[in-house]
Amino acid sequence: MEHLYASDCHNHSSCSPDGRDAVESMCQRAQELGLYAYTLTDHCECQEFEAKYAPRVERAWEEMERAKDCIAGKLRFYRGIELGQPNQNLPAAEAVLSHREYDFVIGSIHNIRNFEDFFFLDYTKEGPEFIDRLLCTYWQELLEVIAWGKFDSLGHLTYPLRYIEGEHGIPVDLAKHREAIDNVFLALIRGEKALEVNTSGLRQKIGRTLPDLPLLSRYYELGGRLVTLGSDAHRTEDLGKGIDEGMELLRQAGFAEFAVFDRRKPIMLPLK
Ligand SMILES: [Zn+2]
Ligand SMILES: [Zn+2]
Repeated sequence: MEHLYASDCHNHSSCSPDGRDAVESMCQRAQELGLYAYTLTDHCECQEFEAKYAPRVERAWEEMERAKDCIAGKLRFYRGIELGQPNQNLPAAEAVLSHREYDFVIGSIHNIRNFEDFFFLDYTKEGPEFIDRLLCTYWQELLEVIAWGKFDSLGHLTYPLRYIEGEHGIPVDLAKHREAIDNVFLALIRGEKALEVNTSGLRQKIGRTLPDLPLLSRYYELGGRLVTLGSDAHRTEDLGKGIDEGMELLRQAGFAEFAVFDRRKPIMLPLK
């Protein structure tokens, strides 16, 4: 890593259905990379908690407990979780958090109510208004997550664009959504929640971070200062990818610091 404080606070092990490598291998890779801090954040898709995620969440927690005890050297290892759609099953989200002392909780929206994950949707079937409607609901559900508030950082803002623009090549004019996005930023700032810079887009077709530089600059302009960084790696090779670039983007947007979370409290670190 090029930066002294480079830290990866969003990634997945094989405890996530779409993750490939064991917790132990992910930790080993984090050590090899020389990350300053490493937070593992396996998935819990809250609307499927009872049907699918309850045992996975338990297993991830147990494996992180074991990993914590065997990490040698200077790597700071933190135990996190990515709560998908907590607003769609608040009792599950709260039960998950009440049992365990996580260091870091990401709040994400991967699918809006009554729709599948944005990954699976067919964007060509209906006109462009369909995409705008989906996005309006997406911002609305993000506001629900922020109003709920029991998370630390908002995951990969503009996630739908990874698929709409990146995978399907359909351009989206975010100018129409400027006010809605401002409302998301203002709600985060008021709620003292962080915004995540998700660097997965840099290695995917969309080719930019989620959110990208113009949006990071806007968040800063509105007074946002709390940011976290994550590669969203689902295998060891991707761990740490794009973190250095993400740190440089944050500096370009005006930020001097970013956060890693320890027992749900931000530790501010310089972007160097
Ligand atoms: Zn996610
Ligand atoms: Zn993720």
